[in-house]
Amino acid sequence: MNYTYGNLIGGTWRDTSASFQTVNPARPSQFIGNYSVADSALAQEAVAVATRAQREWARLPAARRCEEVGRYIDAIESNAARLAEAITLEQGKTLAESRNEVAKACAESRFMMQHVMSGEGTRHVPSLRPGVRNMVVRRPRGVIVAITPWNFPVMTPMRKIAPALGFGNAVIVKASEFTPAAVCVLGELAMEILPAGLVQVLHGGAAVGSVLVGHAQVHGVTFTGSVATGRRIVEASSKNLAAVSLELGGKNAAVIHDTHDLEACLDQVAQAALMCTGQRCTAVSRVLVRRELHADVAQGLARRASALKLGDGSLPETQLGPITHQGQLEHIRASVRRARDDGAEVLAGGRDIEVPGCDGGLFFAPTILDRVRPDTAAACEEIFGPVISLIEYETLDQAIAILNDVDFGLTASLFSNDAGATARFVDECQTGMIHINHGTVPDSHMPFGGIKASGVGAYSVGPSAAAFYTTEHSVYLGV
Ligand code: NAD
Repeated sequence: MNYTYGNLIGGTWRDTSASFQTVNPARPSQFIGNYSVADSALAQEAVAVATRAQREWARLPAARRCEEVGRYIDAIESNAARLAEAITLEQGKTLAESRNEVAKACAESRFMMQHVMSGEGTRHVPSLRPGVRNMVVRRPRGVIVAITPWNFPVMTPMRKIAPALGFGNAVIVKASEFTPAAVCVLGELAMEILPAGLVQVLHGGAAVGSVLVGHAQVHGVTFTGSVATGRRIVEASSKNLAAVSLELGGKNAAVIHDTHDLEACLDQVAQAALMCTGQRCTAVSRVLVRRELHADVAQGLARRASALKLGDGSLPETQLGPITHQGQLEHIRASVRRARDDGAEVLAGGRDIEVPGCDGGLFFAPTILDRVRPDTAAACEEIFGPVISLIEYETLDQAIAILNDVDFGLTASLFSNDAGATARFVDECQTGMIHINHGTVPDSHMPFGGIKASGVGAYSVGPSAAAFYTTEHSVYLGV
């Protein structure tokens, strides 16, 4: 499959003189797509078009907007196979994972429409003056810029597009330069169903991204990606003081304290760590294990990691796809090398893998690093690959101290049947999302976000999204 796309401005695809190509990470000699890079002039035009489209859209009753977005979600569902293929060819994950991604994106988007219709955040408030009624209402924020990474090419953009539209905004998506095909398909479907200019798609990297973020007519910037880029976004958006929502990295831990069913627990942990080849912001990347369970956990995780079949995500027998791009593969290799230098033992993987029929494929074996010291990089820094760092502890106090002693605060799991341990974990674990007795995969309707270096601003998904996609107004209704 070859994709060729320009930038979606208003209702048309527009080319510039610069372009870039994408390849299949399972077979990097296979060319997948050719995309036109948006320049500053196109970015300015996109903002002007969005401004006009948003004015009309915001005038529609919320119920009508949600109905139209509902038809858009229906179209995405009808095109699930086409979207899944686009995801797998550029991102590398298995077709089954890609189909799940599209289904989850649709489920989340439908839940968001329910939140729009619930009118959350709007209320009557008693007045201090006789005969006056006070109200708090929320209105669309305006033009939203959505900047997205490469690991969830449909779900992350839709997590921004659906609430933006439902709450009455226009949205400009700056797709990741590694996985633009699926976002272009989302743009095509929007063109068929929604008024032109409400969903626009631009391609390119930091150059076009920073023009959009710093534009005076942009009212909100929602970004998902790395901490380093998040900091740049905050700097650029300070020019026009746009509202900012950042969803950043994680160093997510599963704490295995005591469990009646260790095999089921390890199935959950291995899945949460390794699905999408570990390239999920919510992937488990540290396993903190109580000393008495250490040997069994190490052995069980190594067995599960070694049993996985890596390959081309398009083939039905593949369980784990490649790393999405060369720079990420090099980062994973360097992280594992450094962990070894810091004294970690490699129980499984730790190296590239050659897959027959996938020449030059970017495959890294699922890796279990044992005896990782809590003060080393493998215990504290994001690897964003199929790598689990095992850290031993003796007491729950120690586990919670190690758990919280990192910059990140996205998600964590505790495996324990002890009510006291569970209560302490819920109270003291410094992450935005907390799971007890299962992995770190979130539900489609729960608030999604992190604290510390993992996120800034309102959580996406659920009622909190209104805080970013709308503005608040105090209204005094006199007689
Ligand atoms: P990245 O920060 O390199 O890039 C993300 C996006 O930002 C891309 O579209 C890129 O083109 C754009 N960009 C880069 N520089 C920019 C600039 N100066 N101005 C505007 N835009 C700019 O991240 P990535 O490598 O694509 O994704 C991996 C990271 O994303 C990991 O750290 C991962 O944890 C994080 N992530 C977080 C979540 C979450 O919900 N918390 C979800 C997925 C991924």
